[in-house]
Amino acid sequence: MSGAFGRLPGTDGSFEKVTDHIGRIHFKTFIPVAVWTVEIEDGGYILIDSGYFNCNVERGLEKAGFSEPPKALVITHCHLDHTGTAKHLIDWWDIPVVASEIEAPFIDGSKSLSGAVDSKAHKAFLGLSSKLNMMTGTPVQVTRKVREGDQVEGLEVVDVRGHSPGQIALVHEQDRAVLVADTFGNFRNRIGRWPFPGIDVDRDEGMGSIAKVAGLGYEKFLPSHGVPILDRGPERLKTAFNLN
Ligand SMILES: [Zn+2]
Repeated sequence: MSGAFGRLPGTDGSFEKVTDHIGRIHFKTFIPVAVWTVEIEDGGYILIDSGYFNCNVERGLEKAGFSEPPKALVITHCHLDHTGTAKHLIDWWDIPVVASEIEAPFIDGSKSLSGAVDSKAHKAFLGLSSKLNMMTGTPVQVTRKVREGDQVEGLEVVDVRGHSPGQIALVHEQDRAVLVADTFGNFRNRIGRWPFPGIDVDRDEGMGSIAKVAGLGYEKFLPSHGVPILDRGPERLKTAFNLN
């Protein structure tokens, strides 16, 4: 398709290849965030997350050398720095939107995050954030709902809930890498609960998901916020979070 790109305004991101099949478009926005490209078997690629509304994802794709739209958009979770340009992208490109079956209602706007927490203070915080449009982006329909163990174009879905009700990570078996979304961050090369734990819907579940990722058996962890972890991932995670 010619003219596939070039309609999105906004902040430019840098592109780097991080593993054999995975590329990172990095936006130095208010909270810096990554959008991922994953090359798939038939020569195309899929997009993981879509940045803030003001991230120029298309220009990043051009920098990466792609001239065609992606085959699918996978949304790891509902937060606005992951769903920001999704509506634009799928209005232009007739591509499937993939997300977890638990997260889908928070992405399509039929459920609010404040309904997903028990604590009153937390509910109020999330409710206010939602009112101010601080937490979730423009709603989009999820066309394929997935769960733990499902395959998406060669990536395996892992349930890493806690940061949000149904956040997913994605394992790239061949590249020995896990796209961990916001399970943890590695901002300025320091691993931690990041952007900050206050926005998690369930901190205990979030910690459980960190331990789960550490035990998956892969060395490389690619967080959406911060520097990709390309060696000794489990060891570094265990040190950072005092895991056994
Ligand atoms: Zn998030």
